Amino acid sequence: MSPDATDEDVAHVVERVESVGGEAFVSKGLSRTIIGLVGDIESFHHLNLRTLQGVADVHRISSPYKLVSRQHHAERSTVWVGQAGNRVPIGPDTFTFMAGPCAVETPEQTLESALMAKSAGATILRGGAYKPRTSPYAFQGLGVAGLEILASVREATGLPVVTEVVDARDVPVVAEHADMLQIGTRNMANFGLLQAAGDAGKPVLLKRGMTATIEEWLMAAEYIAQRGNLDVVLCERGIRTFEPATRNTLDISAVPVVQAASHLPIIVDPSHAAGRKDLVVPLSRAAIAVGADGIIVDVHPEPEKALCDGPQALLGQELRELAQAVRTLPAAVGRGQASVDLRRG
Ligand code: PEP
Ligand code: MN
Repeated sequence: MSPDATDEDVAHVVERVESVGGEAFVSKGLSRTIIGLVGDIESFHHLNLRTLQGVADVHRISSPYKLVSRQHHAERSTVWVGQAGNRVPIGPDTFTFMAGPCAVETPEQTLESALMAKSAGATILRGGAYKPRTSPYAFQGLGVAGLEILASVREATGLPVVTEVVDARDVPVVAEHADMLQIGTRNMANFGLLQAAGDAGKPVLLKRGMTATIEEWLMAAEYIAQRGNLDVVLCERGIRTFEPATRNTLDISAVPVVQAASHLPIIVDPSHAAGRKDLVVPLSRAAIAVGADGIIVDVHPEPEKALCDGPQALLGQELRELAQAVRTLPAAVGRGQASVDLRRG
């Protein structure tokens, strides 16, 4: 309350809080009174407490997200990706390596990338059929034809597929072909898309908005969870800072911060964070060491010919180094490597 608030002002606030079933605890200091509220936070919103006479400020102490918070669900969650008999876990007990081309370009390029990914130890294939490009003149992706290529490469390799959806109208067709829907950095706060993805009945990989705070990101996850879908995996992919040496700045501290606040798994995308292939291995090592639940990495059989993000795609020596890191480092931080779960159901 402001220093000049009267006893009547305080009594009025208490009365308003009690009128919606809340409890108000008044703490009187020498010059200021503080009122602590306990009860249903949504009902307090409707009171417009800031507008009441004598109220100086209102601070929310509990987190604004519920379903994705650890207050709601103390144990960290595992999300399963893939179809019955061929499912891959992402969660606290394993380290999950996902890899593939930035964009699906041709059946051959996608299959070759998938085989590179698989032989490096990846258990989930990534690849964009719908590309959210900064320029409308840049390659936009193959659309449904790309989804069909991904589905046939899944058949050939056994790798479940994650692919991005950029428009709510495409959610049904993407969900029909893919095992996991990706929402990219540019769409993290596209609430209609989040809701549509929440309704699709498939796990969702939610990338952090490039200018989003962790709280905003968790609120975006809450949009999906609120539709009844708690199979959400978060992906830290770098944020915009003043530093031009990398495309984005990988916010490595987001990993333990998110793990303390939310039960959802969190993985790291070192490729889109760095935008440069020479940083992908060191950043992947950092992601494993900090306790990430997985990584998602761009690979391409011919990066110089890639239609999207060639400079960050791995092959050859770098991919071998990454495979070595993924094989050896998770155990050093107490994790096994994710493998395909062949149980049914
Ligand atoms: C991607 O993973 O292909 C992609 C476009 O990533 P981001 O949304 O993080 O830029
Ligand atoms: Mn890309």
